[in-house]
Amino acid sequence: RNVSEEKLMVAVRVRPLRPDEGPRIVHVVSDKMLVLEDEADSRRDVLRQRRHNDKHCVYDRVFGEDSTQEEVYEAVCAPLVGGTLRGFAGAVFAYGATGAGKTHTMTGLMSRALNHLFTSIAESDDPKAYEVKMSYIEIYNENIRDLLNPSAGPLELRDEGGSGAPVVAGLSEVRATSAAHVSELLTRGDRARTAEPTHANEHSSRGHALLSVTVSRQVEGGVQRGRLFLIDLAGSERAGLRARRLEGAHINRSLLALANCIMALSGGARYVNYRDSKLTRLLREVLGGRCRTAMVAHVAPGATHRETTRSTLHYAQRASSI
Ligand code: ADP
Ligand code: MG
Repeated sequence: RNVSEEKLMVAVRVRPLRPDEGPRIVHVVSDKMLVLEDEADSRRDVLRQRRHNDKHCVYDRVFGEDSTQEEVYEAVCAPLVGGTLRGFAGAVFAYGATGAGKTHTMTGLMSRALNHLFTSIAESDDPKAYEVKMSYIEIYNENIRDLLNPSAGPLELRDEGGSGAPVVAGLSEVRATSAAHVSELLTRGDRARTAEPTHANEHSSRGHALLSVTVSRQVEGGVQRGRLFLIDLAGSERAGLRARRLEGAHINRSLLALANCIMALSGGARYVNYRDSKLTRLLREVLGGRCRTAMVAHVAPGATHRETTRSTLHYAQRASSI
């Protein structure tokens, strides 16, 4: 199975262990399976061979700590970029707790995806027929901010009526001319993101960043339009029941709504409520429609992250059944 043959591809990426994170409890056993050691088993008799309570988790792909950015790109994102050039929509989500490696992955995917796009266009029969536009927004506390025009106030999400996707009113769409140009725009956008009065880390753990790249191509009788979304989600530690208890009103509404949509879709529900948050309204087509989607769930391998790791792996397994 690969991303082009199914609706949602679910991958897990394990980042390198740091010395302050306790013993390793996540073991990658193949490119599709990892094992989460059970808590009780960490104190087990070392001579015991079988660890009955270890959790074996299978995904479409598992990336170990030695995985390269290139490998992740080729497996998860490259097929979607090919589709975007042919007029399809695709999306990659990075999910996981703060510090688990979401931004690391997305940074690698963004630069490679744009390079791939511009190279393919340059090598095509008619490079002049293509136009690449991008927008980059942040959803923070249910406010939409234009990262390519950060001085503008919060932007409104408008339903245009009918079944079309909602529109972010006043959002800047910048025509991108080269991969270098894009990386300059992204750097500027990221700077806008982290220049908040709140700590940079705190900010990025609460906000979702959405890069949207539209590739238009003049064809006989009209314009063919493909789209790629690359989404760096807020830290998943803010999505669970535990977070709701701890943070009260500050719970991340968009992340919860996304989780609810994923649970509903994975359970085969006939009705899925996309209306609960800005993120799910924006991504309605991506989640429920004709769009190839990949989710990369991120975990840290050390024992100190056991609870968030367990919950991320569980979430990813639910998403696998979509
Ligand atoms: P998140 O965005 O999920 O909060 P980051 O991507 O910022 O996490 O990662 C936290 C730290 O771990 C960063 O210093 C990052 O460079 C490092 N890191 C994350 N994933 C990897 C990886 N696969 N290989 C090497 N370093 C990584
Ligand atoms: Mg981050």
